[in-house]
Parts: sequence; C-alpha cells; structure tokens
Amino acid sequence: MAEHETTRDGQRPERTVYALTDSGRDELLARDITVQHGKRLVAAHDTGAGVRAEFDDGSEAFGDLLIGCDGVHSTVRRLIDPTAPAPSYAGLINTGGYASGVSVDTEPGSYEMIFGKRAFFGYLKADDGQVWWFSNVPRRDEPARGELAAVSGEEWRRRMLELYAEDAGPAVSLIEATPEIMPMTAIHSIPHLPRWHNDRMIVVGDAAHAPSPSSGQGASLSIEDGVPSACGTCPPRKRRSPSSLPNAVPGSSASSRPPPASTTTRRPARSAGCSATPSCR
Ligand SMILES: Cc1cc2nc3c(=O)[nH]c(=O)nc-3n(C[C@H](O)[C@H](O)[C@H](O)COP(=O)(O)OP(=O)(O)OC[C@H]3O[C@@H](n4cnc5c(N)ncnc54)[C@H](O)[C@@H]3O)c2cc1C
Repeated sequence: MAEHETTRDGQRPERTVYALTDSGRDELLARDITVQHGKRLVAAHDTGAGVRAEFDDGSEAFGDLLIGCDGVHSTVRRLIDPTAPAPSYAGLINTGGYASGVSVDTEPGSYEMIFGKRAFFGYLKADDGQVWWFSNVPRRDEPARGELAAVSGEEWRRRMLELYAEDAGPAVSLIEATPEIMPMTAIHSIPHLPRWHNDRMIVVGDAAHAPSPSSGQGASLSIEDGVPSACGTCPPRKRRSPSSLPNAVPGSSASSRPPPASTTTRRPARSAGCSATPSCR
C-alpha cells in the first residue's frame, strides 16, 4: 500500500513517498452496507444481549459490538475506561490547504513529505492537478483553547512563508497559491492505552494509538486494526453473531497484545527544528 523512498544527501530534503489507493468506500457500497452521516455518539450501554448506542440527536442503534473508530479524542475510549489517559500534546501545530496552478514534481497519488529546516511539510497531487498540502509547525507549549483560532489565516500564511523560506521544495509556492489556509490545530497522540476494550466495545485506529502525523503511519495502522476486527466478526465460511469481543476479535482477550499498532505510536514525535523529542523540550 505504501512505497518508501528516502534521500539523505545533504542537498535535497529527506522525502518519503506514499502511493495510497482508497477502495474502502466502493467496497461498502458494493456490499450494500449503510453509512449514516451527521450522528454523534454520546453514550453506549452493554444490555447483556448487545450494545445500545445513543446519539446526540436522540436516536439509538443496537448491535452485537461497538467498534470505536472515532479518532484521537474518542468518546468510545472514555466509555470503555473513564480513567483512560488523555491524549498527549505532540509538540506540533498543524494546518493545510489546497493549491491550484503550481507545478510539482510528483505523480498524482504520491505523497511527498519534507523535513524542512524549521517545519515539516507534506503534499499530494490530485488527479486534476490540484495539490493538497499540510504543514506541521513545532511548538513546545500546548496552545490554550481558542488561541490558535484567534490568529487569522493570513497571519498563519505570513508565518509559514517565513518558516519554509530556506527550504527546497514547493512549500512556499503552494502556500502562496492557496486561497484559504485551513484552521491551525494542535496535534495530539496516544502513546499508551492500558485498557482498549471491554466485552462488547473496542477502540481502533487513532482512538487507540494515535501516532504523530509526521510518522505518516496513522491511517495505515488504523487500516491494519480493521483486519483482525473484520476477520473476527465475519468469518469467511460461517457467518455468526459474536457474543463478545474476546470471541469476535482475535487478540482482544485481556491477556493479549493491544491492537496492531507498531512501535510507531511509541516513537517520539519528529519534525524539523524542534519537536516533542526529549532533546528539544
Ligand atoms: C496533518 C496530518 C497528516 C497525516 N498524514 C498521514 C500520512 O501521511 N499517513 C498516514 O498513514 N497517516 C497520516 N495521518 C494520520 C491519519 O490521518 C490518522 O491516523 C487517521 O486518520 C486515523 O483514522 P481514524 O479513522 O482512526 O480516525 P479519524 O480519521 O480521526 O476519524 C475519526 C472519525 O470519527 C468521528 N467522530 C469523532 N467522535 C465521534 C462521535 N462521538 N460520534 C461519531 N463520530 C465521531 C470524527 O468526526 C471522524 O470522522 C496524518 C494526520 C494529520 C493530522
């Protein structure tokens, strides 16, 4: 699913190239699986016979199991363990945007990542030539609530143009050509989660083990989590209704290892210049 190509010649930026293809949505449609949007889970209860999920619009849903793939600020994680550790600030703030009319030296679908002198930059060319980019900017202290939102997009543009001014690559051109800079947000990670399931609920993906985005592995790990979940809940030859997670998901018994996150999630965040690594704290 991913191709890696790294250069360390002192002249060019270190680069990692990813080619990703997402066929998941087509597969859902092909299997006639219904997806409902716009509902926010607020609570869930083990009824003994299954799980009742409650949403903020007052609606409910029932199922054998609840798989929480609800991201780094997961509600399901707190439902499983109200004392679960809070996400750790990764020492990075993040924004991005969409630029048109800039020629970049990559094939559509390939992801380029650059460890710049003072900040990290990633971009991907879409089939129509538009370039989608993101920027990770090191910042030691966690921003206060509302602090990042109080800075205008134009001010972030000005600051980023300064940060990337000395770097090779198209960061400056892409930032200049972007009509609207996306809101800057703080990046969080989940380095360790002691309890990631109970009998009927489990967290996967970022909800269980969000890595730093500069690892470039979070989506891959989330997809990796999906494999044992799918294998456990839907055996190929004999469909069954799993009565609990230890039955449904191989490896989810209390004594076994956590979801298939690699050492990536435990590796410190890395970016250019400074990051949450011990050396720059
Ligand atoms: C800047 C940046 C760059 C990245 N680059 C890469 C990369 O190159 N390669 C890579 O592999 N990974 C990358 N990642 C990481 C990757 O995006 C995440 O690891 C991945 O999206 C996690 O998937 P997820 O499904 O677990 O969570 P998410 O993608 O966060 O999805 C969670 C979903 O749950 C929804 N949700 C949350 N709470 C509720 C609720 N209560 N009820 C209902 N829905 C809810 C959210 O709205 C969201 O749609 C990057 C991340 C960032 C921030």
